Amino acid sequence: MATSTFNGSVPAWDEVVRLAALQDLEVLDTPPETAFDDIVQIAAQVCQTASASVGFVTGDRHWFKAKIGFEEDEIPSDVSIGSYAMRQEGLVVISDLREHPELRTNPFVTGKPGLRFYAGIALRTERGIALGALSVLDCSARPEGLTAAQERTLVALARSITREMKLRQAERELAQKTEMLNRLHASSDDCIKVLDLEGRLRFMNEGGCRALEVRDFAQIEGCNWLDFWTGETADDARRAVLRAKLGDTGHFRGYCPTLAGTPKWWDVVVTPIMGSDGKPDALLSISRDITGVQHAEESLRESEERLRLAMETTGLGIWDLNMVTGERKWTAEAQELFGFAPDTLITQDLILECIHPDDRESVAQDLYSTDRAESLTFTNVFRITRADNGEERWISSVGHTLVDKDGRPTRRLGIAQDVTHHIVAEEVLRASQDGLLRQTAHLQSILATVPDAMVVSDETGIIRSFSATAVTMFGYQPEEIIGTSVKYLMPLPYRDNHDGLMHRYRQTGERRITESGRVAVAQRKDGSTFPMEVHLGEMESGGERFFTAFIRDLTDRQYTEKRMQELQTELAYMSRLTAMGEMGSTLAHEVNQPLTAITGYLKGCGMILDRMEGEHVPMLRHGIEGATEEAHRAGEVIRQLRAFVARGETDQEIEDLRKLIEEASALALAGAKDKGIKVDFDLPHESPKVLVSRVQIQQVLLNLVRNAMEAMQEVEQRDLTIRAELAEAATMVCMSVKDTGTGIAPTILEKLFTPFTTTKRTGMGVGLSICRTIIEAHGGKIWAESTPGAGTTFCFTLKVVEDEELADAHQAS
Ligand code: ADP
Repeated sequence: MATSTFNGSVPAWDEVVRLAALQDLEVLDTPPETAFDDIVQIAAQVCQTASASVGFVTGDRHWFKAKIGFEEDEIPSDVSIGSYAMRQEGLVVISDLREHPELRTNPFVTGKPGLRFYAGIALRTERGIALGALSVLDCSARPEGLTAAQERTLVALARSITREMKLRQAERELAQKTEMLNRLHASSDDCIKVLDLEGRLRFMNEGGCRALEVRDFAQIEGCNWLDFWTGETADDARRAVLRAKLGDTGHFRGYCPTLAGTPKWWDVVVTPIMGSDGKPDALLSISRDITGVQHAEESLRESEERLRLAMETTGLGIWDLNMVTGERKWTAEAQELFGFAPDTLITQDLILECIHPDDRESVAQDLYSTDRAESLTFTNVFRITRADNGEERWISSVGHTLVDKDGRPTRRLGIAQDVTHHIVAEEVLRASQDGLLRQTAHLQSILATVPDAMVVSDETGIIRSFSATAVTMFGYQPEEIIGTSVKYLMPLPYRDNHDGLMHRYRQTGERRITESGRVAVAQRKDGSTFPMEVHLGEMESGGERFFTAFIRDLTDRQYTEKRMQELQTELAYMSRLTAMGEMGSTLAHEVNQPLTAITGYLKGCGMILDRMEGEHVPMLRHGIEGATEEAHRAGEVIRQLRAFVARGETDQEIEDLRKLIEEASALALAGAKDKGIKVDFDLPHESPKVLVSRVQIQQVLLNLVRNAMEAMQEVEQRDLTIRAELAEAATMVCMSVKDTGTGIAPTILEKLFTPFTTTKRTGMGVGLSICRTIIEAHGGKIWAESTPGAGTTFCFTLKVVEDEELADAHQAS
């Protein structure tokens, strides 16, 4: 027999499928079985044939599971008549094999046993794959074939073999599945339970016992699974059971602690287990412990939420650049930062175009360089011009580069944030700090130059700040005194007083210590003391109260005042003296003539008496001699007076002109401001030296300034100018006192320097004549220029002491 189907070396695809099905059946080469033997027996009997078989064809063999009427266990498939029948549809009946076109050459037909009759039917799987055949054979031809009953029986027997095969397969599969299920139950960490329709526990796997922390299933067998759940989850569980009972799958997530009380979250699926009637007759519940997942999900959700919040509130944009593919991912926030519309195709050029030219290179280096960077993380702050509105903004970007195993950058990702307001705020802050620093420096320079020392202390009297002037005034370095009490700047008993005052102040707020302008005694580091005037200021800063003391060293001022007093006394004395002298000499001058005349007359009278005689003559002579003597004495008194006045003229010293003027002005101008007089000094830069009687020259100045001030009493404009300038090739200095007063009438001007010339009701009219005497005694000249109604200028000159003379004077002294 030659068939095209089974002798090919490479089996066709359907043959591969067929052989796999046969393998699945696990029937080949198995021992005989009664079920198959019975069928063969019945077939042979019903069809009344000598032989019958149930055989399966695999590759080149036709193997017999059951046979009757022959010995072979198997025969080559290419000579098997069953193989032929197997390829046909339905029952095959061949009345005489010798006449069959294909089988008449079959060795079993031509040779032993010399078969003549064949009837058979393919044994097929459910899907119709033919695996073998049920055959009946006989060695005598049977022209009438089989009866209808015989044919039906053969077909029915073939069906029962197929059923038998199916049954066996199902059994095997069931066994496998049961095994699989058992293994699954045992190894799974899921809690697998079988519940009855009420929810009572009927089975639970070992993994489930572990997950639920149950010793063994017996501990909870029969308990209602629905009772495990509480609150909302209990409703979820009930709903899931209900769904499963309706043939559906229920699913929920819920919290349920284990039997040992460990808190756990579960993901639960409840499915129906269908009964043979197609209705659920039990429920399968699989619970998975998702506590870890739940936590992870929760923390993921939280961090996602946080990130979203951060991105929303900070406008944080995230960018991601694949350096290999060039793919770019920007979050909406990142695009918004640059002012890109949502559908913009972002390219490197587009980005760089937005970046300020000054920042472009560094950004390009950070973002796009493919060189191996030293650091994989970078931060850059740069300016951009927004693509949508052209606004300039500051962006801060932090990025990180991912590299391959060779260190080449493959991906760069990072965040970007608009930091314009930070930068602006920083600039404002910096500007205000600069301003503050400038102000502080300004303040410090003021404090350094004012003659007052500044000491700042806190409420408890602890020194917090000590100015440069304070350092010079007290002799303490700031680091020595800051942090100690202000009381150390005062001598005893003020020191102890201070503590008491401070204490009282803190308790009552009574400000004794802050009486401003108080004059007190201060103590230097070396223990010496000096008078001081303290002005106290109080301020609050940062919730703390501070006292700022401005301290003026009164040593100098007191000295100056004393000096002024001395000067005043001196000048007063001198002016009285000179006024007296001036009057004396004028008197002497005026009285001398009458005295001389008196003496002359007395002399004449004496000569007449010499020629007269009588008893009264001696008496008269005595009287005339007495009168002459008295007249001489009067003359002598006057001479003495002039000599006394002249005595002061010799008392001359080298004086600094500026100092001399300043001192005299200070005295003369006392109260000038109150009188609305504006005073101007115009003195040479380098003060000339003069050889003078200081007191006398100051007396002149005082006189001139006082006259000028008096002359301006009645007028509106009250300007006084005191000037000194070098004259006559710097050998002389010309001083002038100019006023804008009433001026001097020409009649007065003529005899201005003559004694007793005055226009004042209480004036003596000797001031200017004294001035002339003094100036002329010093080798100078004095004169006045006046325009009535416009003002007067008094000028006088003094000899300047030349440098050589000065050197000589120094040597001499
Ligand atoms: P007394 O001031 O006592 O009158 P003085 O000799 O100092 O004596 O002055 C003489 C007079 O000269 C003054 O009464 C006054 O009329 C006039 N006189 C002096 N200085 C001025 C002046 N600056 N402006 C106007 N008149 C002046």
